[in-house]
Amino acid sequence: MKKRILVTGGAGFLGSHLCRRLLNEGNEVICLDNFFTGAKENILDLVPHPYFELVRHDVQEPILLEVDEIYNLACPASPPYYQFDPVATTRTSVLGAINMLDIARKCKAKILQASTSEVYGDPEVHPQPESYRGNVSTTGIRACYDEGKRCAETLFFDYQRQYGVEIKIVRIFNTYGPYMNPYDGRVVSNFIVQSLKGEDITIYGDGKQTRSFQYVDDLIEGMIRLMNTKDGFTGPVNIGNPNEFTMIELAQKVIRLTDSKSKLIYMPLPEDDPLQRQPIIELAKKELDWEPIIKLEDGLKKTIEYFDKLIKKEG
Ligand code: NAD
Ligand code: UDP
Repeated sequence: MKKRILVTGGAGFLGSHLCRRLLNEGNEVICLDNFFTGAKENILDLVPHPYFELVRHDVQEPILLEVDEIYNLACPASPPYYQFDPVATTRTSVLGAINMLDIARKCKAKILQASTSEVYGDPEVHPQPESYRGNVSTTGIRACYDEGKRCAETLFFDYQRQYGVEIKIVRIFNTYGPYMNPYDGRVVSNFIVQSLKGEDITIYGDGKQTRSFQYVDDLIEGMIRLMNTKDGFTGPVNIGNPNEFTMIELAQKVIRLTDSKSKLIYMPLPEDDPLQRQPIIELAKKELDWEPIIKLEDGLKKTIEYFDKLIKKEG
């Protein structure tokens, strides 16, 4: 049955993939975005679709829309952008969650929150299960994002307990793929763009910090499966690829795949930058029958192809 689905942050990297997939599955999609870090270019191909609507709106402000499901993704995700106006970042997470939960409550819609591995902070437990409560600085420069997302999770559970709203929470680990903003400062886009342009590759710190990257299609599959779980299953569920590697290893792989002459240069490590991160995905396997299937090398090739075209278009 055709559902009417609201995707906040729908013009962003992940949101644009989600809108495309939901439309392809025969749903009506309302994409809501204030275009802070997203772009119309990400969804231009969807605009002519008769069941696609684009709404320019800031989730910090209330809005009433009649929908069956809500995916709440609106929030800058890259550290330089979420730290650019940290107060707006917290407001977006917290007020955005309240405003979207109010819609869900009024319409009896199901609502899914795009939470993050950042709720674990700089983890002292490794790898991270959903039961780990995290090691987050409340005063550091990442706190606007981390604490905003933690508070959003709290609000989701309180709306469920207090008002019976049907909630789902996904904790997303680092994700990459086409439609990432080439200049938003995240590591995969930085390294690929630098490599393709033959510029120096910027390693922050000693490059021995680790991350676990998943390709965007794997994540979108996990999010949709979570939304479709039975009533009463809320998560939070980790969705990520347990394949962990250092930033130096990532740089070397990108250089090899782009056949680049770029050199590594070392720059200061940003404050509060987590040393390591890797999801335990047993819950996703059990409840969603999900695990990532796209290998890093294959995902990187697709992403490199996307950035290569984009850079050639820029001239
Ligand atoms: P993105 O920056 O590409 O997308 C975020 C979108 O939200 C953009 O289109 C932006 O314009 C929009 N937005 C920001 N503030 C808004 C506001 N106040 N009102 C309306 N729209 C607003 O980032 P992304 O990587 O696509 O991330 C999407 C969501 O997934 C975010 O909530 C992020 O926290 C979460 N997440 C992403 C990752 C990742 O690796 N990409 C990891 C963990 C969590
Ligand atoms: N990083 C890096 N060079 C860059 C951009 C990022 O070495 O040009 C590092 C960053 O310090 C962090 C890791 O790569 O340790 C992942 O950074 P990103 O901003 O992509 O994600 P997050 O820190 O939110 O996991």
